Amino acid sequence: MKRITIAIDGFSSTGKSTIAKQLATALNYVYVDTGAMYRAVTLYALLENFVSEEALDKRALIGALDTIDLNFELNPNSGKSEIRLNGKNVETEIRTMAVSKWVSPVATVKEVREKLVAMQQQMGVEKGIVMDGRDIGTVVFPDAELKIFMTASADARANRRYKELLDKGEQVTFDEVLKNVQERDHIDSTREVSPLRKADDAIVFDNSDMGLKEQFERIHNYALRIMVA
Ligand code: C5P
Repeated sequence: MKRITIAIDGFSSTGKSTIAKQLATALNYVYVDTGAMYRAVTLYALLENFVSEEALDKRALIGALDTIDLNFELNPNSGKSEIRLNGKNVETEIRTMAVSKWVSPVATVKEVREKLVAMQQQMGVEKGIVMDGRDIGTVVFPDAELKIFMTASADARANRRYKELLDKGEQVTFDEVLKNVQERDHIDSTREVSPLRKADDAIVFDNSDMGLKEQFERIHNYALRIMVA
């Protein structure tokens, strides 16, 4: 069977990573969560105090980009790959509301995107990869054999994210989460550099009312059809 590249893009909290992970496991492919990379850079900016009050010091962040080292390591217990920022596993720290609040502004910075896109393209040179994000089918791998564009209503998405955060013990309100989801959608879709948009050849996948099993089966079938062609 042909080894292919699978790009999964879409709005925040559409469940891209859940499906992408399942797909990578089933196909024995590498899975890369590019949102985790933007989140790790954001965590770095917060730790270095490049974010003060309501502003991000872009110049300071750009100046420090060369000192940011990112890589993924496999967690043998969960079987999942986790992100490391300058050698430290930050998989938990990057999922807080503080990071969610600043990640979209950080992701508008052209130099940040150039660095991360180059890393992502390098990870995919041998194909056999499932990558999720916002610009995978449009910018990172415009030639990907399978492109999925995931979408769901803002309410359905905020509900999923809200439950996840509560499960982790974070003190948040539903309205806060909904506002964050809507703000990220807005910034991600309207930014100048590689805005979130559907690639012309992507399959639109609205999963507001679709369970995980059905989503996985459909997308797995799309992949298999291309792999045997
Ligand atoms: O996927 P996740 O919601 O964790 O991504 C966090 C943020 O990172 C997004 O809201 C977006 O601003 C940014 N991002 C991006 N391009 C990607 C992946 C994520 O701009 N390929």
